[in-house]
Amino acid sequence: MTTFSVVATPIGNLEDITLRALSVLRVADLVLCEDTRVTRKLLDRHDIHVKTMSYHARSKLSRTEEIIGILRDSKTEDSTIEQSRDSNPHAGNKDRETSSFRADMNSVGKCIGRVENIALVSDAGTPGISDPGSELVGRIRSELKTEIENGQLKIEAIPGPSALAAALSIAGVPCADFTFLGFLPHKKGRQTLFREIAESDRTMIFYESPHRIMKTLEAMKEGTIEILKDLKIEQLNGGATKQSDDSAIEQANGSKSRKKITVCRELTKIFEEVVSGTADEVLYYFTLHPDKVRGEFVVIVSVK
Ligand code: SAM
Repeated sequence: MTTFSVVATPIGNLEDITLRALSVLRVADLVLCEDTRVTRKLLDRHDIHVKTMSYHARSKLSRTEEIIGILRDSKTEDSTIEQSRDSNPHAGNKDRETSSFRADMNSVGKCIGRVENIALVSDAGTPGISDPGSELVGRIRSELKTEIENGQLKIEAIPGPSALAAALSIAGVPCADFTFLGFLPHKKGRQTLFREIAESDRTMIFYESPHRIMKTLEAMKEGTIEILKDLKIEQLNGGATKQSDDSAIEQANGSKSRKKITVCRELTKIFEEVVSGTADEVLYYFTLHPDKVRGEFVVIVSVK
């Protein structure tokens, strides 16, 4: 049987990798990496010497076809290509550290013998979560359906870190249910989304880059202000409640303070920090500390 393992890797601290992930990577005939140089650091750190090949968001269709081809062929017994791995996959890593093992491959076909274990990793965290992987797994599932049903191919998850789960676990916000938005769109639909985020009672979580975090915090502040304006206009137009101007403003302010923004930065790394408050407060904090507008960010918007 061939196993295709989708392996979660650390989101910063290289020690955040499960024992199972390490054993799977150790016996892999091939590790598909978002960036082979990034994965190499992790593999070296754990003294793992296996073949790697890039598989990233810009990978051509031919790469996907190639991987599917390898998985399809792997069920045939004869290997026409020279085996470059020890027959015992658990043999000492040093013994297997040949130049061919060190090579990051551009093409698999010519370098690899019969494949039993392929692993897929991304640069950080769980493949498929705002990272390449889902499309490939989807293609494998549909194109190799028979092999999966016959028990010749297994797709398995090797779970582990994800910035999404790490952030939620320490934010201290309601997360019985939440919506994960991945990276927000840069242009089309961005403003509408901010409005939706501001209006929703559900916890919303998304990823952000250091280049956009300030703009995003500003937009969230604006989103709240837009809602405040609308609320105020509704009230001033003599809505059913016939409240005075003052109470309309009071209600609007109440709505403003309903939202809590939690920014989780550099999780599992030396400068890990969690900042929370209203959009205004968090924006103010990062304006005061421009040196902290760097690294990796997860933003959570919740009801207070
Ligand atoms: N697959 C990854 C996962 O499972 O979390 C996410 C990959 S996505 C390309 C990278 C984004 O995840 C970063 O821009 C950042 O928003 C978030 N992220 C990744 N590592 C992080 C960390 N250590 N601290 C905070 N956010 C992180």
